[in-house]
Amino acid sequence: MRATKIICTLGPASDSAETICELMRAGADVFRLNMSHATHDWVRKIVPQIREIAATQNRPAAVMLDTQGPAIRTGKLEHDLPLAVGDTLEFTVRNAKPHERNSVSVNYDGLIDDVSAGCTMLVDNGVLRVRVVEKDENRMRTKVLTEGTLGSRRHINLPGVHVNLPPLTPKDLDDIALGAEIGVDFVALSFTHQKSDLEQLRAELLRLRSTAGVIAKIETQSAVTAIDGMIDAADAILIARGDLGIECPMEELPIIQRRIVKRCIQKTKPVIVATHLLESMVENPVPTRAEVTDVANAAYEQADAMMLTGETTSGRYPVECVKVLARVANRIERSGGAGFATDLDLQDPRQKTVASAVLLANSLRNSKLIVFTRHGTMARYVSNLRAERAPIFAFTPSEHIFRQLTLCWGTHPVLMRFKEDPNSTIAAAEEYLRDARLTREGDNLVILTDVHARGEMFDSLQVRSARASSGDGDGEVDERPGGESLMD
Ligand code: PEP
Repeated sequence: MRATKIICTLGPASDSAETICELMRAGADVFRLNMSHATHDWVRKIVPQIREIAATQNRPAAVMLDTQGPAIRTGKLEHDLPLAVGDTLEFTVRNAKPHERNSVSVNYDGLIDDVSAGCTMLVDNGVLRVRVVEKDENRMRTKVLTEGTLGSRRHINLPGVHVNLPPLTPKDLDDIALGAEIGVDFVALSFTHQKSDLEQLRAELLRLRSTAGVIAKIETQSAVTAIDGMIDAADAILIARGDLGIECPMEELPIIQRRIVKRCIQKTKPVIVATHLLESMVENPVPTRAEVTDVANAAYEQADAMMLTGETTSGRYPVECVKVLARVANRIERSGGAGFATDLDLQDPRQKTVASAVLLANSLRNSKLIVFTRHGTMARYVSNLRAERAPIFAFTPSEHIFRQLTLCWGTHPVLMRFKEDPNSTIAAAEEYLRDARLTREGDNLVILTDVHARGEMFDSLQVRSARASSGDGDGEVDERPGGESLMD
């Protein structure tokens, strides 16, 4: 049972029902829809398809809608511009007439105000670097620092520059409304700079009555600087190494990744490592050794999930990529992890109860962690503690929690209606696990639930031995959880 989750970005190479089905079989847990490219019609078609395939495979599969965000892009060009070192390249705003032979418009009028002479701009994923020489109200002259060819609608990165763009563009708001309407499970916000950007997204989702979780994409220097606030404000963090690797010195990237993973675990938030994990597999059926090591490193750091981008949108081997991630993660998990979850400074008594459960599971042979969760909170606490061997079975009656928990390390969500009597719910969960051959007779079941005593509800931690068949002794527990629900 693999603990590290796999996210696939869907695109032309992977969006047929057949391929989605194969991706799920190979181990994909979450499907990402990149709104920089996706159309609304495509989203309306693909989301029900994902849900249907997940239902036939009897497994959860979450959908993440990734916003385009306030990306700065060059405009359309009649012809590509070949550029040599030392050439002049002009950027114009507000439909200003070109003054130079090499000239391109930009979609963001404030660009000229945000950058100053001497500033370096990176175009097209950093392939083309230019330095700002001078600017007036509507145009900016730059000197080309690296040879390259400029095509239409290329992305511009401004490392270290504070950009005065609103965090949610009109397009993002439109896309988020669609996501809310069709019930996506997560919305990822691109080019977030600060906590308040995420608060705006959460307010918008609340207004739309969406239950989608908020994911902060960390892809700028300012987001790295503000990381603590971002982790607090988000439901999960996505380390978007594509843009981050352009915005930050490349040698800093592994350090930033490790620090963010560690900080997320300290703050009990899921964390995703994304992009270029298996870049060579866009063309080749096998990864490079260095890529295997990068994937192994993310699994060793115990990130909740790894995310494929170009490999599954336009690559030749999308299903093989998922198989490689699953295979490497499985192997690394058996050899142990970085242990960022040991010695956490837990303050909340409920988290301390969960820590006792994980400690217990670590000390027992053939242990399984079982948690009942209505809002996913207790399941996330369990996942965050990165149990050594025990898989986590999270039972929930909520469909959206069932899907959202697919993102959490080591967690296998099970959708189950809770019964009136919580003890019967536990018995039903045991039966489910036994019938699905997920537990065997004699396994140590470490169960986190709640019990009713003296008219109050208490968190409880129980250890039961898995039985061979149902009906032999249900209800042996003296202190039965009675009345309302099981867990938060
Ligand atoms: C990234 O930059 O790594 C990333 C995932 O962002 P996007 O593909 O949306 O630019």
